Amino acid sequence: FEEIQKTDSEVAEAILHEMERQNSHIELIASENWVSKAVMAAMGSPLTNKYAEGYPGRRYYGGCDYVDVVENLARDRAKELFGCEYANVQPHSGAQANMAVFFAMLKPGDKILGMNLDHGGHLTHGSPVNFSGNYFVTSFYGVNDDGVIDYDEVRRIALEEKPKMIIAGASAYARKIDFKRFRQIADEVGAYLMVDMAHIAGLVAAGLHESPIPYADVVTTTTHKTLRGPRGGMILSSQEAAEKFKFNKAVFPGIQGGPLEHVIAGKAVCFKEALQPEFKEYQKQIVKNAKALSEALMAKGIKLVSGGTDNHLMLMDLSEEDVTGKELEKRLDQANITCNKNTIPNDPRSPMVTSGIRLGTPAVTTRGMKEDDMEQIAEAIRLVLTGEENIGKAREIVAGLTKKYPLI
Ligand code: PLP
Repeated sequence: FEEIQKTDSEVAEAILHEMERQNSHIELIASENWVSKAVMAAMGSPLTNKYAEGYPGRRYYGGCDYVDVVENLARDRAKELFGCEYANVQPHSGAQANMAVFFAMLKPGDKILGMNLDHGGHLTHGSPVNFSGNYFVTSFYGVNDDGVIDYDEVRRIALEEKPKMIIAGASAYARKIDFKRFRQIADEVGAYLMVDMAHIAGLVAAGLHESPIPYADVVTTTTHKTLRGPRGGMILSSQEAAEKFKFNKAVFPGIQGGPLEHVIAGKAVCFKEALQPEFKEYQKQIVKNAKALSEALMAKGIKLVSGGTDNHLMLMDLSEEDVTGKELEKRLDQANITCNKNTIPNDPRSPMVTSGIRLGTPAVTTRGMKEDDMEQIAEAIRLVLTGEENIGKAREIVAGLTKKYPLI
């Protein structure tokens, strides 16, 4: 950091402010986390200087001996962690992992069936503002009135639409996903099954959510959410599928150039950490904290989509409150609680306004918080929800918690 200060005081100052922000705020964005110092150091290492187009042993540049060691470690550990035969650790992000898979398995104009964005799906699962909705013909499934995926409805739509690929996985879904059921539906209509486990990858690694590996033709993920690694993506499959669909070629040279070997080093370190017994305990605590937070919120009369959570996140339903997602996100920010507004199923408001707030516990769990602390966070949220005049009181609760669990 001192080096940045010496060279570029403006960037150094912004980083310092961001570090202070992270330390003084409670982080409830469900897709965020704090990486270990080892992961951070790997990302800031001299591996960033290296070009390495291609794959270990088959590069288009010289001098790749040591980045090959790193990339092989990342691939081998990913395979061990998730129990699969093939891993591509080069996608720069989750969106790029998905793009590579789409281009490997489909042709433009093919039909896909994904989860509706408004019901918890991701932009890359067929949204019209994304490549997935532009290059492919889309259809969507969603959740029922209880906020849970209606598998009979998924089947009905699949039979009607006959998609070439079904996408399971979500960004704002608080319940377990039945991958076996998705496989049955995909088999019935002759579709490929892709699972995007970005949000739950840490839970899957720890055995707290059923693994999609035995059911999906291909699995994609990010590495920076519950998995607590560097910002990036990954593709997992059987060796047979990898060869059939040529996932390696789809990533490079298909959609990317040189891999980010410093980030791949961060992924390798993250996977090593995730293979330790402590990681399982960490994931268990994430789930316990999410349960505690959801129960505390509901006990205070706050409505949640699907009435609770099975994983690391929950979705507050504000449709009966006189505040929008946008307004509550802003108010919570003033109380030093960071979260994001989110559409709820059949949201009458636009995605820029919304009637929901998504909350997740991976980051606060990394910080060391436990169930009792969730009760306090719920109280702070209730205070903010009841009126702007209570923001000060909520901020005091946050200050107490952030002091108790310092980051820096
Ligand atoms: N897939 C899912 C389910 C996600 O939730 C996200 C990110 O929020 C992504 C893919 C995209 O990941 P990235 O932001 O790394 O492109």
